[in-house]
Amino acid sequence: MSRKRKTKIIATLGPASKSQKVIEALYKAGVDTFRLNMSHGDQDGKRELIGNIRAVEEKVGRPIAIMVDLQGPKLRVGMVKGGKVKLKRGQVFTLDLDQTPGDQTRVNFPHPEVYSAIEKGHSVLLNDGRIRLTVEKAGKSAINCKIKIGGDLSHHKGVNLPNAILPVGSLTPKDKRDLQFALEMGVEWIALSFVQRAADVREARKLIGGRAGMMAKIEKPAALKELEEILTIADATMVARGDLGVECKVEEVPIIQKNIIHTARSMGKPVVVATQMLESMITAPMPTRAEVSDVANAIFDGADAIMLSAETAVGEYPVEAAKVMDKIAAQIESDPAYRKMLRQEALAGTPSTDDAITAAARQVTRTLGASAIVTYTTSGSTALRAARERPMAQILTLTPNLHVARKLCLVWGLHTVKTKDVRSFEEMTGKAKRMAVRHGLARVGDKIVITAGVPFGTPGSTNVLHIVEIKSSDMTS
Ligand code: PGA
Ligand code: MN
Repeated sequence: MSRKRKTKIIATLGPASKSQKVIEALYKAGVDTFRLNMSHGDQDGKRELIGNIRAVEEKVGRPIAIMVDLQGPKLRVGMVKGGKVKLKRGQVFTLDLDQTPGDQTRVNFPHPEVYSAIEKGHSVLLNDGRIRLTVEKAGKSAINCKIKIGGDLSHHKGVNLPNAILPVGSLTPKDKRDLQFALEMGVEWIALSFVQRAADVREARKLIGGRAGMMAKIEKPAALKELEEILTIADATMVARGDLGVECKVEEVPIIQKNIIHTARSMGKPVVVATQMLESMITAPMPTRAEVSDVANAIFDGADAIMLSAETAVGEYPVEAAKVMDKIAAQIESDPAYRKMLRQEALAGTPSTDDAITAAARQVTRTLGASAIVTYTTSGSTALRAARERPMAQILTLTPNLHVARKLCLVWGLHTVKTKDVRSFEEMTGKAKRMAVRHGLARVGDKIVITAGVPFGTPGSTNVLHIVEIKSSDMTS
């Protein structure tokens, strides 16, 4: 199965999408990467989800990436009586360490380490900033607030404290346990939440030790100040608009989105746009016009991937939401304005053989009207370079490494196939032609451009660019 689109789709799994059946339907609707959110549920539940994803992967015969999103120092309230309580404007409300379910007057706030950082007059934002409280008195075990904007509060809703400087790093003890679990399960991507400094990413990098790709979620104003340094260390990034829109002014988010995408793109790092992309589809089978425009604009901004969160995790229409994203992406990518944007965004490479070959491959496909660029890659870096060029031709990535094949599933434009390594030039061209046709990326009579590193089988630089025409006799050899 090959996709028509370049922009990748990530879907978060949850109660609405945990069965193998729904996961398969999501994959078929267009999902390339599944995200497991460690903020909800436990490791056993995630193990089951991973088993289900791998079973679907086996069934559809295509690599699928799994991203484990660590909770990070996300502050949340505890449980509430009856699953939902109404907070009324003007009333008092207390956050405390009492673990019993909350009500209209109080709720558990199980983060003793941050109580000391909160002062009278600070804002406390609940449920993505929908509910606003002002601190009247901050103590060691209770924070008394006044409700400024009320609303419904349900279990485990997020708490943002934009005025307080929190004495926390980006990996909590829970995150370290979840990270260990994720690495043992062999997932391809680890997403780090609430990164504040480059040091946070550096620490995680050491713990991950190259066993998975590392995605730095940008959702704190502090991270924006060290964006380039963070992206130098991370393998990819996410515009995490949910918390970003609470921690920063919401009207700044579109500008921040463009900046992060531009910075990531110029550094050749994959970038994901996330949160509330099709929010209304949690309860409706159709998106709003504004949501469709938002998804389209993220694609126009040059994102590698667009992400669904609650829409697929707890929504009533998970598969429909994935289908909507798939359709929007296909439509936008066929538009001349999108192609023009990609051309304008073409990046200057570094003075290296790899970049020169990759840039040339893109140029050759344009000049000759070749259908596909076929890259042989061991570590995935050649494929990333090809994607960074944003060619209109298809990119077929061949790798002997299953982990790499899966990992590249969230990168713009890459159609990755795990296959045995080639040992000779003839094998290289023969396999490239057969695979391109088999996967629907080229037809007999088309030209394709192959890039590889010679000698074969030794990871190193890309130093070969070969142009071939596919003949019908190639299909039988
Ligand atoms: P979350 O991250 O869904 O884990 O909060 C994404 C965001 O904040 O946008
Ligand atoms: Mn977040």
